[in-house]
Amino acid sequence: MPVSVPFLDLVQSYGDGEKIAVTCATVAQSGWYILGPEVAAFEREFAAYCGAAHGVGVGNGLDALRLLLLASDIGPGAEVIVPANTYIATILAITQTGATPVLVEPALATLNLDPARVEAAISPHTRAMLAVHLYGNPAAMVELQAIASRHDLLLFDDCAQAHGATIGSQRLGSLSNGSGFSFFPTKNLGCLGDGGAVTTNDGKLAERLRCLRNYGSQRKYYNQLAGWNSRLDELQAAILRQRLPHLDQRNAERRRLAQVYIEALQELPLQLLPYNPQSVYHLLPVLCRDRDSLQAFLKERGIATMIHYPLPPHQQDCYRHCAWAQRSLPLTEAIAQQELSLPLYPGLTDAQQTYVIEQIRAFYFGP
Ligand SMILES: *Cc1c(COP(=O)(O)O)cnc(C)c1O
Repeated sequence: MPVSVPFLDLVQSYGDGEKIAVTCATVAQSGWYILGPEVAAFEREFAAYCGAAHGVGVGNGLDALRLLLLASDIGPGAEVIVPANTYIATILAITQTGATPVLVEPALATLNLDPARVEAAISPHTRAMLAVHLYGNPAAMVELQAIASRHDLLLFDDCAQAHGATIGSQRLGSLSNGSGFSFFPTKNLGCLGDGGAVTTNDGKLAERLRCLRNYGSQRKYYNQLAGWNSRLDELQAAILRQRLPHLDQRNAERRRLAQVYIEALQELPLQLLPYNPQSVYHLLPVLCRDRDSLQAFLKERGIATMIHYPLPPHQQDCYRHCAWAQRSLPLTEAIAQQELSLPLYPGLTDAQQTYVIEQIRAFYFGP
């Protein structure tokens, strides 16, 4: 019986330390560290993987979303429809442009943006929807695309938890006006620091993003836009190039583990999303009323879990003065009270997973 199950063990999960060391040495020896051949190659390879025409590497996932919105002229006066139960970065990306988030409660069957509720949230100021594929589970992009064209709105998606997830036979990253990705170390495709990218089929948008991430300059020392400094660096791009070919295999392993959890926990008094082969299971969320005592019970038995997320964006201190945040959002608030994420990562052993399942059963039924 394993004595401990970490929530995530990145070193063990990737097991590519030696190759990383070689990659780092090669980039170090190249003498070129910002906006060079590694970033250009990764942008091409990642866009191709997503089935998108263009990829633009940026500093992190928040910047990917923020620059995507800014490059699309989203700013003060614009409303952006977004799921209320997302990670704070999705909302920060909107508020940092000066636009107003319009929070929509999720569909309980997916915990993602609910197309039925989206239509009701559209106003004359609505410019865009920003869908989030939370926990790796793809949002209803086909329905959202239909709403976007019916109401002449832009559709963006936050793919920070969903590298490789699919709708039908298409991967996310090519199914909206622009998609933001994060390569934060814990994501399904992670580097050894901060990193992000935007993928899009819109060549003009990609060009604006390349300009905005680099001080608003296309030609060195000439600035047509007042831009930012937010670039994926050569070292991270080289590491991501090394890891991208393994992403599908790693996602398949996540799906296998998810399926085992879902089948084994089905009979227990907790809620699980039905198994979805299109999801990439960045996380395995369960909803349960006695979440805090279950978490403490598992912790005592050496099993680490996490809560995604304990306080929804509209209840965060940073937004307490914002009119749009003065809402009661019962579903979102209930999810924050009940959500618990179980250990799930490529490299989690069958013995570890069996132990987690046994201990959850023991919490409800005794040993
Ligand atoms: C991680 C994450 C982000 C932000 O990515 P960073 O690279 O950490 O800035 C945005 N949205 C979601 C849903 C995320 O999980």
